[in-house]
Amino acid sequence: MLFEQLGLSTNILRAIADEGYVRPTPIQEKAIPAILEGKDVMGGAQTGTGKTAGFTLPMLRRLEKYESTSRSPAKHPVRALILVPTRELAIQVSESIKTYGKYTNLKSTLVYGGVNIDTQVESIRNGVEILVATPGRLLDHLQQKYLSLSRVEVLILDEADRMLDMGFLPDIRKILDTLPENRQNLMFSATFSNEIKKLANQLLNEPVLIEVAKSNSINNLITHVVYMSRTNLKAEHLVHLLKEKNLDQVLIFSRTKSGVDRLKKYMDQHGIVAAAIHGDKNQLQRCQAFNDFKQGRINVLVATDVAARGLDIDELSCVINFELPTNPEDYIHRIGRTGRAGSKGYAISLVSPEEKKQLVEIEKLLQKKIQVEQIDYANKKQNEKLKAKNTSPQRDKKAGRGEPKQNHRSTVSDLNIAEVIYFNGKHINREIKSNKANKHDPLFTQPYVSTKSEHELNNDSVLKTTKKRQGKRNYNRGPVPALFAPPVNK
Ligand code: AMP
Repeated sequence: MLFEQLGLSTNILRAIADEGYVRPTPIQEKAIPAILEGKDVMGGAQTGTGKTAGFTLPMLRRLEKYESTSRSPAKHPVRALILVPTRELAIQVSESIKTYGKYTNLKSTLVYGGVNIDTQVESIRNGVEILVATPGRLLDHLQQKYLSLSRVEVLILDEADRMLDMGFLPDIRKILDTLPENRQNLMFSATFSNEIKKLANQLLNEPVLIEVAKSNSINNLITHVVYMSRTNLKAEHLVHLLKEKNLDQVLIFSRTKSGVDRLKKYMDQHGIVAAAIHGDKNQLQRCQAFNDFKQGRINVLVATDVAARGLDIDELSCVINFELPTNPEDYIHRIGRTGRAGSKGYAISLVSPEEKKQLVEIEKLLQKKIQVEQIDYANKKQNEKLKAKNTSPQRDKKAGRGEPKQNHRSTVSDLNIAEVIYFNGKHINREIKSNKANKHDPLFTQPYVSTKSEHELNNDSVLKTTKKRQGKRNYNRGPVPALFAPPVNK
Protein backbone atom coordinates (compact mmCIF):
# COMPACT_ATOMS: atom_id res chain seq x y z
CA MET A 1 0.00 0.00 0.00
CA LEU A 2 1.10 3.57 -0.70
CA PHE A 3 0.51 6.70 1.38
CA GLU A 4 -1.37 8.15 -1.60
CA GLN A 5 -4.06 5.51 -1.14
CA LEU A 6 -4.83 6.48 2.44
CA GLY A 7 -6.82 9.66 1.87
CA LEU A 8 -4.22 12.15 3.09
CA SER A 9 -3.91 15.64 1.57
CA THR A 10 -1.25 16.79 -0.88
CA ASN A 11 0.37 18.98 1.76
CA ILE A 12 0.71 16.08 4.16
CA LEU A 13 1.93 13.73 1.41
CA ARG A 14 4.62 16.26 0.50
CA ALA A 15 5.85 16.32 4.08
CA ILE A 16 5.91 12.50 4.18
CA ALA A 17 7.88 12.43 0.94
CA ASP A 18 10.37 14.90 2.43
CA GLU A 19 10.96 12.41 5.23
CA GLY A 20 11.75 9.75 2.68
CA TYR A 21 9.03 7.37 3.83
CA VAL A 22 8.23 5.02 0.99
CA ARG A 23 5.21 3.20 2.35
CA PRO A 24 3.10 3.20 5.51
CA THR A 25 4.02 0.91 8.37
CA PRO A 26 1.38 -1.69 9.40
CA ILE A 27 -0.06 0.49 12.14
CA GLN A 28 -0.27 3.46 9.78
CA GLU A 29 -2.08 1.35 7.18
CA LYS A 30 -4.68 0.37 9.73
CA ALA A 31 -4.98 3.47 11.88
CA ILE A 32 -5.02 6.22 9.25
CA PRO A 33 -8.24 5.17 7.44
CA ALA A 34 -10.06 4.44 10.73
CA ILE A 35 -9.10 7.81 12.21
CA LEU A 36 -10.04 9.64 9.00
CA GLU A 37 -13.48 8.03 9.24
CA GLY A 38 -13.83 9.63 12.65
CA LYS A 39 -13.77 6.38 14.59
CA ASP A 40 -12.37 5.91 18.08
CA VAL A 41 -9.25 3.76 18.06
CA MET A 42 -7.57 1.53 20.61
CA GLY A 43 -4.06 0.89 19.33
CA GLY A 44 -1.74 -1.72 20.76
CA ALA A 45 1.66 -0.66 19.52
CA GLN A 46 5.11 -0.14 20.85
CA THR A 47 7.38 2.70 20.04
CA GLY A 48 9.34 2.07 16.85
CA THR A 49 6.30 0.96 14.87
CA GLY A 50 5.58 4.38 13.38
CA LYS A 51 2.59 4.93 15.66
CA THR A 52 3.27 8.67 16.08
CA ALA A 53 2.77 9.26 12.36
CA GLY A 54 -0.09 6.76 12.58
CA PHE A 55 -2.16 9.18 14.64
CA THR A 56 -0.53 12.51 13.68
CA LEU A 57 -1.08 12.26 9.92
CA PRO A 58 -4.86 11.65 10.03
CA MET A 59 -5.25 14.13 12.90
CA LEU A 60 -3.63 16.82 10.76
CA ARG A 61 -5.83 15.83 7.83
CA ARG A 62 -8.95 16.15 9.98
CA LEU A 63 -7.92 19.58 11.24
CA GLU A 64 -6.94 21.02 7.88
CA LYS A 65 -10.44 22.44 7.50
CA TYR A 66 -9.57 24.82 10.36
CA GLU A 67 -6.40 26.17 8.77
CA SER A 68 -6.24 29.91 9.19
CA THR A 69 -3.62 32.53 8.53
CA SER A 70 -5.32 34.91 10.93
CA ARG A 71 -3.20 36.19 13.78
CA SER A 72 -6.15 36.34 16.12
CA PRO A 73 -5.85 33.74 18.91
CA ALA A 74 -9.62 33.34 18.77
CA LYS A 75 -9.21 31.77 15.33
CA HIS A 76 -6.91 29.11 16.75
CA PRO A 77 -8.68 27.28 19.58
CA VAL A 78 -7.24 23.94 20.71
CA ARG A 79 -8.86 21.28 18.49
CA ALA A 80 -6.63 18.33 19.26
CA LEU A 81 -5.11 17.37 22.61
CA ILE A 82 -2.35 14.78 22.87
CA LEU A 83 -1.54 13.54 26.35
CA VAL A 84 1.82 11.85 26.88
CA PRO A 85 3.62 10.58 29.99
CA THR A 86 6.98 12.34 29.72
CA ARG A 87 8.66 15.53 28.60
CA GLU A 88 10.80 13.60 26.16
CA LEU A 89 7.81 12.03 24.47
CA ALA A 90 6.07 15.42 24.40
CA ILE A 91 9.07 16.86 22.56
CA GLN A 92 9.21 13.94 20.18
CA VAL A 93 5.50 14.04 19.33
CA SER A 94 5.61 17.80 18.94
CA GLU A 95 8.55 17.52 16.54
CA SER A 96 6.59 14.96 14.50
CA ILE A 97 3.59 17.29 14.29
CA LYS A 98 5.81 20.11 13.08
CA THR A 99 7.49 17.80 10.55
CA TYR A 100 4.34 16.29 9.09
CA GLY A 101 2.36 19.53 9.32
CA LYS A 102 5.01 21.86 7.91
CA TYR A 103 3.02 22.61 4.73
CA THR A 104 -0.22 23.25 6.62
CA ASN A 105 -1.28 26.38 8.47
CA LEU A 106 -2.03 24.51 11.67
CA LYS A 107 -0.27 25.69 14.83
CA SER A 108 0.92 23.47 17.64
CA THR A 109 2.73 23.77 20.93
CA LEU A 110 3.68 21.64 23.91
CA VAL A 111 3.50 21.95 27.68
CA TYR A 112 5.36 19.84 30.23
CA GLY A 113 6.53 20.20 33.78
CA GLY A 114 9.95 21.03 35.18
CA VAL A 115 10.32 24.27 33.24
CA ASN A 116 9.05 27.79 33.64
CA ILE A 117 5.32 27.99 32.90
CA ASP A 118 5.35 31.57 31.54
CA THR A 119 6.74 30.85 28.07
CA GLN A 120 4.20 28.05 27.72
CA VAL A 121 1.39 30.42 28.67
CA GLU A 122 2.62 32.85 26.06
CA SER A 123 2.57 30.30 23.23
CA ILE A 124 -0.88 29.00 24.23
CA ARG A 125 -2.24 32.56 24.34
CA ASN A 126 -1.17 33.09 20.73
CA GLY A 127 -3.56 30.31 19.81
CA VAL A 128 -2.84 26.73 18.72
CA GLU A 129 -4.91 24.02 17.09
CA ILE A 130 -2.82 21.19 18.49
CA LEU A 131 -1.58 20.87 22.05
CA VAL A 132 0.82 18.18 23.27
CA ALA A 133 0.97 17.94 27.06
CA THR A 134 1.98 15.93 30.07
CA PRO A 135 -1.02 15.61 32.40
CA GLY A 136 0.37 17.35 35.49
CA ARG A 137 1.48 20.53 33.77
CA LEU A 138 -1.66 20.67 31.64
CA LEU A 139 -3.72 20.57 34.80
CA ASP A 140 -1.71 23.53 36.15
CA HIS A 141 -2.58 25.50 33.03
CA LEU A 142 -6.24 24.54 33.30
CA GLN A 143 -6.47 25.34 36.99
CA GLN A 144 -4.89 28.73 36.43
CA LYS A 145 -7.29 29.26 33.54
CA TYR A 146 -4.53 29.84 31.04
CA LEU A 147 -6.34 27.79 28.46
CA SER A 148 -9.65 26.29 27.49
CA LEU A 149 -10.18 22.84 26.04
CA SER A 150 -13.86 23.34 25.25
CA ARG A 151 -13.32 23.12 21.46
CA VAL A 152 -11.29 19.90 21.48
CA GLU A 153 -12.44 17.45 18.80
CA VAL A 154 -9.70 14.85 18.99
CA LEU A 155 -8.19 13.46 22.17
CA ILE A 156 -5.14 11.21 21.94
CA LEU A 157 -3.65 9.30 24.86
CA ASP A 158 -0.20 8.14 23.84
CA GLU A 159 1.61 5.50 25.92
CA ALA A 160 -1.46 5.29 28.13
CA ASP A 161 -0.02 2.36 30.07
CA ARG A 162 2.97 4.42 31.12
CA MET A 163 0.77 7.35 32.14
CA LEU A 164 -1.13 5.01 34.43
CA ASP A 165 2.10 3.50 35.75
CA MET A 166 3.25 6.99 36.60
CA GLY A 167 0.09 7.69 38.58
CA PHE A 168 -1.46 10.17 36.14
CA LEU A 169 -4.95 8.63 36.19
CA PRO A 170 -6.47 11.19 38.62
CA ASP A 171 -5.02 14.07 36.56
CA ILE A 172 -6.28 12.50 33.35
CA ARG A 173 -9.77 12.18 34.82
CA LYS A 174 -9.77 15.85 35.79
CA ILE A 175 -8.64 16.81 32.29
CA LEU A 176 -11.35 14.66 30.70
CA ASP A 177 -13.95 16.62 32.70
CA THR A 178 -12.93 19.80 30.88
CA LEU A 179 -13.37 18.32 27.38
CA PRO A 180 -16.55 18.42 25.31
CA GLU A 181 -18.51 15.14 25.28
CA ASN A 182 -18.62 14.93 21.54
CA ARG A 183 -15.12 14.12 20.37
CA GLN A 184 -12.96 11.45 18.80
CA ASN A 185 -10.78 9.44 21.21
CA LEU A 186 -7.62 7.60 20.30
CA MET A 187 -5.71 5.59 22.81
CA PHE A 188 -2.33 3.93 22.31
CA SER A 189 -0.75 1.55 24.73
CA ALA A 190 2.02 -1.01 24.49
CA THR A 191 0.44 -3.19 27.17
CA PHE A 192 -3.09 -4.02 28.28
CA SER A 193 -3.47 -4.25 32.02
CA ASN A 194 -6.94 -4.40 33.58
CA GLU A 195 -6.60 -0.73 34.44
CA ILE A 196 -5.96 0.16 30.81
CA LYS A 197 -8.93 -1.91 29.68
CA LYS A 198 -11.11 -0.16 32.26
CA LEU A 199 -10.01 3.26 31.09
CA ALA A 200 -10.52 2.24 27.45
CA ASN A 201 -14.07 1.06 28.25
CA GLN A 202 -14.90 4.36 29.88
CA LEU A 203 -13.27 6.54 27.28
CA LEU A 204 -13.73 4.92 23.90
CA ASN A 205 -16.90 4.60 21.92
CA GLU A 206 -17.07 1.38 19.86
CA PRO A 207 -13.36 1.61 19.14
CA VAL A 208 -11.60 0.03 16.22
CA LEU A 209 -8.99 -2.27 17.74
CA ILE A 210 -5.63 -2.17 16.06
CA GLU A 211 -2.84 -4.35 17.28
CA VAL A 212 0.49 -4.49 15.55
CA ALA A 213 4.01 -5.15 16.63
CA LYS A 214 3.22 -7.83 19.16
CA SER A 215 6.25 -8.30 21.27
CA ASN A 216 7.49 -11.25 19.24
CA SER A 217 7.45 -9.32 15.97
CA ILE A 218 10.31 -7.23 17.33
CA ASN A 219 12.44 -10.36 17.31
CA ASN A 220 12.86 -10.23 13.58
CA LEU A 221 14.70 -6.96 13.76
CA ILE A 222 16.59 -7.29 17.00
CA THR A 223 19.28 -9.76 17.94
CA HIS A 224 19.18 -10.56 21.64
CA VAL A 225 22.41 -11.42 23.39
CA VAL A 226 22.71 -12.29 27.07
CA TYR A 227 25.94 -12.43 29.03
CA MET A 228 25.82 -13.94 32.45
CA SER A 229 27.71 -11.59 34.73
CA ARG A 230 27.88 -11.36 38.48
CA THR A 231 26.43 -8.13 39.82
CA ASN A 232 29.72 -6.97 41.29
CA LEU A 233 31.54 -7.44 37.99
CA LYS A 234 28.94 -5.96 35.69
CA ALA A 235 30.38 -2.45 35.58
CA GLU A 236 33.76 -3.79 34.67
CA HIS A 237 32.33 -6.14 32.04
CA LEU A 238 30.34 -3.30 30.58
CA VAL A 239 33.31 -0.99 30.20
CA HIS A 240 35.27 -3.85 28.69
CA LEU A 241 32.46 -4.51 26.23
CA LEU A 242 32.14 -0.87 25.20
CA LYS A 243 35.85 -0.40 24.69
CA GLU A 244 36.63 -3.62 22.95
CA LYS A 245 33.70 -3.59 20.59
CA ASN A 246 33.92 0.13 19.85
CA LEU A 247 30.19 0.37 20.34
CA ASP A 248 28.80 3.61 18.97
CA GLN A 249 25.67 5.36 20.24
CA VAL A 250 24.76 2.98 22.98
CA LEU A 251 21.83 3.50 25.26
CA ILE A 252 22.34 1.77 28.59
CA PHE A 253 19.52 1.11 30.99
CA SER A 254 19.90 0.93 34.71
CA ARG A 255 16.99 0.38 37.07
CA THR A 256 17.48 3.19 39.54
CA LYS A 257 18.49 6.83 39.46
CA SER A 258 21.39 6.22 41.82
CA GLY A 259 22.42 3.23 39.70
CA VAL A 260 22.52 5.48 36.63
CA ASP A 261 24.66 8.05 38.46
CA ARG A 262 27.07 5.43 39.77
CA LEU A 263 27.44 3.86 36.38
CA LYS A 264 28.11 7.19 34.69
CA LYS A 265 30.74 7.97 37.31
CA TYR A 266 32.34 4.58 36.80
CA MET A 267 32.51 5.20 33.07
CA ASP A 268 34.04 8.63 33.57
CA GLN A 269 36.70 7.01 35.72
CA HIS A 270 37.39 4.53 32.94
CA GLY A 271 37.71 6.99 30.08
CA ILE A 272 34.27 6.62 28.55
CA VAL A 273 32.43 9.85 27.93
CA ALA A 274 28.89 9.22 29.05
CA ALA A 275 25.88 11.25 30.06
CA ALA A 276 23.11 10.31 32.44
CA ILE A 277 19.42 11.03 32.36
CA HIS A 278 16.86 10.24 35.03
CA GLY A 279 13.98 11.84 36.86
CA ASP A 280 16.16 13.91 39.22
CA LYS A 281 17.91 15.70 36.37
CA ASN A 282 16.36 19.01 35.45
CA GLN A 283 14.98 19.65 32.02
CA LEU A 284 18.05 21.54 30.86
CA GLN A 285 20.39 18.72 31.89
CA ARG A 286 18.17 16.14 30.23
CA CYS A 287 17.93 18.09 26.97
CA GLN A 288 21.67 18.72 26.97
CA ALA A 289 22.46 15.04 27.55
CA PHE A 290 20.00 13.90 24.93
CA ASN A 291 21.22 16.41 22.33
CA ASP A 292 24.87 15.53 22.96
CA PHE A 293 23.98 11.90 22.46
CA LYS A 294 21.82 12.48 19.40
CA GLN A 295 24.49 14.58 17.74
CA GLY A 296 27.21 12.07 18.49
CA ARG A 297 29.19 14.25 20.94
CA ILE A 298 28.92 11.43 23.43
CA ASN A 299 28.62 7.76 22.61
CA VAL A 300 26.96 6.50 25.73
CA LEU A 301 23.76 7.56 27.40
CA VAL A 302 22.84 5.92 30.69
CA ALA A 303 19.18 6.17 31.57
CA THR A 304 16.36 4.90 33.73
CA ASP A 305 13.28 3.47 32.03
CA VAL A 306 11.09 6.47 32.67
CA ALA A 307 13.66 8.98 31.44
CA ALA A 308 14.28 6.99 28.29
CA ARG A 309 10.62 6.87 27.35
CA GLY A 310 9.97 8.80 24.21
CA LEU A 311 13.59 9.29 23.20
CA ASP A 312 13.51 9.42 19.45
CA ILE A 313 16.85 8.32 18.20
CA ASP A 314 17.14 7.02 14.67
CA GLU A 315 19.72 4.42 13.81
CA LEU A 316 20.47 3.39 17.36
CA SER A 317 22.13 0.06 16.78
CA CYS A 318 22.59 -1.16 20.32
CA VAL A 319 20.77 -1.07 23.64
CA ILE A 320 22.39 -2.53 26.73
CA ASN A 321 20.52 -3.63 29.80
CA PHE A 322 22.88 -3.22 32.72
CA GLU A 323 20.20 -4.88 34.78
CA LEU A 324 17.08 -6.55 33.49
CA PRO A 325 13.93 -4.58 34.23
CA THR A 326 11.58 -5.89 36.90
CA ASN A 327 8.65 -5.58 34.55
CA PRO A 328 9.29 -7.72 31.46
CA GLU A 329 7.30 -5.32 29.30
CA ASP A 330 9.91 -2.67 30.02
CA TYR A 331 12.41 -4.88 28.22
CA ILE A 332 10.30 -4.46 25.10
CA HIS A 333 10.18 -0.70 25.59
CA ARG A 334 13.91 -0.53 26.16
CA ILE A 335 14.86 -2.49 23.10
CA GLY A 336 12.27 -0.53 21.11
CA ARG A 337 14.93 2.20 20.97
CA THR A 338 16.86 0.04 18.54
CA GLY A 339 15.73 -1.85 15.44
CA ARG A 340 13.43 1.01 14.51
CA ALA A 341 11.43 1.28 11.32
CA GLY A 342 13.06 -1.59 9.53
CA SER A 343 16.69 -1.34 10.63
CA LYS A 344 18.46 -4.03 12.61
CA GLY A 345 19.41 -3.67 16.22
CA TYR A 346 21.17 -5.41 19.08
CA ALA A 347 19.85 -5.85 22.59
CA ILE A 348 22.62 -6.87 24.95
CA SER A 349 21.85 -7.77 28.55
CA LEU A 350 24.18 -8.35 31.45
CA VAL A 351 22.31 -10.81 33.59
CA SER A 352 23.27 -11.81 37.10
CA PRO A 353 22.24 -15.18 38.53
CA GLU A 354 19.71 -13.33 40.68
CA GLU A 355 17.99 -12.01 37.56
CA LYS A 356 17.28 -15.37 35.97
CA LYS A 357 13.61 -15.18 36.95
CA GLN A 358 13.24 -11.89 35.10
CA LEU A 359 14.95 -13.41 32.08
CA VAL A 360 12.39 -16.22 32.02
CA GLU A 361 9.55 -13.68 32.13
CA ILE A 362 11.09 -11.73 29.27
CA GLU A 363 11.44 -14.89 27.21
CA LYS A 364 7.77 -15.66 27.83
CA LEU A 365 6.81 -12.25 26.55
CA LEU A 366 9.09 -12.52 23.53
CA GLN A 367 7.82 -16.05 22.95
CA LYS A 368 11.39 -16.95 22.26
CA LYS A 369 14.27 -18.42 24.17
CA ILE A 370 17.27 -16.16 24.42
CA GLN A 371 20.47 -18.15 24.33
CA VAL A 372 22.27 -17.63 27.61
CA GLU A 373 25.86 -18.51 28.29
CA GLN A 374 27.24 -18.60 31.75
CA ILE A 375 30.68 -17.45 32.69
CA ASP A 376 31.86 -20.12 35.01
CA TYR A 377 33.11 -18.09 37.95
CA ALA A 378 32.78 -20.95 40.34
CA ASN A 379 34.97 -23.36 38.48
CA LYS A 380 38.18 -22.41 40.14
CA LYS A 381 40.11 -25.36 38.83
CA GLN A 382 39.33 -24.58 35.24
CA ASN A 383 40.21 -20.95 35.78
CA GLU A 384 43.51 -21.81 37.32
CA LYS A 385 44.27 -24.15 34.45
CA LEU A 386 43.46 -21.42 31.99
CA LYS A 387 45.54 -18.92 33.89
CA ALA A 388 48.50 -21.26 33.84
CA LYS A 389 48.08 -21.81 30.09
CA ASN A 390 47.73 -18.17 29.27
CA THR A 391 50.65 -17.00 31.31
CA SER A 392 52.99 -19.77 30.17
CA PRO A 393 56.24 -18.06 29.02
CA GLN A 394 56.53 -20.52 26.12
CA ARG A 395 53.15 -19.59 24.87
CA ASP A 396 53.84 -15.89 25.22
CA LYS A 397 57.01 -16.29 23.24
CA LYS A 398 55.15 -18.14 20.53
CA ALA A 399 52.51 -15.48 20.30
CA GLY A 400 55.36 -13.05 19.99
CA ARG A 401 53.84 -10.13 21.88
CA GLY A 402 53.38 -11.18 25.44
CA GLU A 403 49.73 -11.88 24.75
CA PRO A 404 47.95 -15.20 24.55
CA LYS A 405 47.99 -16.79 21.13
CA GLN A 406 45.10 -15.58 18.97
CA ASN A 407 43.86 -18.81 17.46
CA HIS A 408 44.08 -20.90 20.57
CA ARG A 409 40.81 -22.65 21.34
CA SER A 410 41.16 -23.26 25.01
CA THR A 411 37.95 -24.85 26.26
CA VAL A 412 34.88 -26.63 25.04
CA SER A 413 32.77 -23.90 26.54
CA ASP A 414 34.60 -21.34 24.41
CA LEU A 415 33.55 -23.27 21.34
CA ASN A 416 29.96 -23.41 22.44
CA ILE A 417 29.84 -19.70 22.96
CA ALA A 418 31.40 -19.01 19.60
CA GLU A 419 28.66 -21.05 17.99
CA VAL A 420 25.99 -19.22 19.93
CA ILE A 421 27.29 -15.86 18.95
CA TYR A 422 27.64 -16.92 15.34
CA PHE A 423 24.08 -18.14 15.37
CA ASN A 424 22.71 -15.16 17.23
CA GLY A 425 24.48 -12.25 15.65
CA LYS A 426 26.29 -12.10 12.35
CA HIS A 427 27.28 -8.55 13.16
CA ILE A 428 29.25 -9.59 16.19
CA ASN A 429 30.96 -12.34 14.29
CA ARG A 430 31.81 -10.00 11.45
CA GLU A 431 33.33 -7.68 13.93
CA ILE A 432 35.52 -10.41 15.27
CA LYS A 433 36.71 -11.21 11.78
CA SER A 434 37.29 -7.61 10.81
CA ASN A 435 39.44 -7.23 13.87
CA LYS A 436 41.93 -9.80 12.62
CA ALA A 437 44.58 -7.24 12.00
CA ASN A 438 43.89 -5.50 15.26
CA LYS A 439 46.64 -5.66 17.80
CA HIS A 440 44.14 -6.12 20.60
CA ASP A 441 42.18 -9.25 21.11
CA PRO A 442 38.57 -8.87 20.11
CA LEU A 443 36.05 -8.82 22.87
CA PHE A 444 36.23 -11.73 25.24
CA THR A 445 38.25 -13.96 22.95
CA GLN A 446 40.68 -14.31 25.76
CA PRO A 447 39.98 -15.34 29.29
CA TYR A 448 38.82 -12.36 31.21
CA VAL A 449 41.18 -11.25 33.93
CA SER A 450 40.10 -8.42 36.16
CA THR A 451 42.39 -5.43 35.83
CA LYS A 452 41.65 -4.54 39.42
CA SER A 453 43.11 -5.87 42.57
CA GLU A 454 40.86 -7.34 45.24
CA HIS A 455 41.43 -4.17 47.24
CA GLU A 456 40.35 -1.91 44.38
CA LEU A 457 37.27 -4.01 43.75
CA ASN A 458 36.31 -3.77 47.39
CA ASN A 459 36.58 0.01 47.26
CA ASP A 460 34.84 0.53 43.96
CA SER A 461 31.89 2.86 44.50
CA VAL A 462 29.73 1.11 41.91
CA LEU A 463 30.25 -2.20 43.57
CA LYS A 464 29.89 -1.11 47.15
CA THR A 465 26.14 -1.49 47.40
CA THR A 466 26.10 -4.88 45.79
CA LYS A 467 28.91 -6.02 48.04
CA LYS A 468 26.91 -5.02 51.09
CA ARG A 469 24.07 -7.17 49.87
CA GLN A 470 26.32 -10.10 49.17
CA GLY A 471 27.76 -10.08 52.66
CA LYS A 472 30.90 -12.02 53.12
CA ARG A 473 30.66 -14.35 50.17
CA ASN A 474 34.02 -14.57 48.54
CA TYR A 475 33.81 -14.98 44.80
CA ASN A 476 36.68 -16.32 42.85
CA ARG A 477 38.12 -13.41 40.93
CA GLY A 478 40.56 -15.40 38.88
CA PRO A 479 40.43 -15.37 35.10
CA VAL A 480 37.13 -16.46 33.60
CA PRO A 481 36.89 -18.44 30.39
CA ALA A 482 36.71 -16.52 27.14
CA LEU A 483 33.29 -15.71 25.76
CA PHE A 484 34.14 -16.10 22.09
CA ALA A 485 36.45 -18.41 20.29
CA PRO A 486 39.13 -16.28 18.73
CA PRO A 487 39.05 -15.80 14.97
CA VAL A 488 41.01 -18.31 13.00
CA ASN A 489 43.66 -16.62 10.91
CA LYS A 490 43.59 -17.94 7.36
P1 AMP B 1 7.49 5.87 16.33
O1 AMP B 1 7.05 4.44 16.49
O2 AMP B 1 6.34 6.76 16.07
O3 AMP B 1 8.34 6.31 17.49
O4 AMP B 1 8.40 5.96 15.01
C1 AMP B 1 9.64 5.35 14.90
C2 AMP B 1 10.49 5.90 13.76
O5 AMP B 1 9.96 5.47 12.51
C3 AMP B 1 10.56 7.42 13.69
O6 AMP B 1 11.91 7.77 13.63
C4 AMP B 1 9.87 7.79 12.39
O7 AMP B 1 10.51 8.87 11.78
C5 AMP B 1 10.00 6.53 11.56
N1 AMP B 1 8.85 6.28 10.65
C6 AMP B 1 7.55 6.49 10.90
N2 AMP B 1 6.79 6.12 9.86
C7 AMP B 1 7.63 5.65 8.92
C8 AMP B 1 7.45 5.11 7.60
N3 AMP B 1 6.25 4.97 7.06
N4 AMP B 1 8.55 4.73 6.92
C9 AMP B 1 9.78 4.87 7.47
N5 AMP B 1 10.02 5.37 8.70
C10 AMP B 1 8.96 5.75 9.43
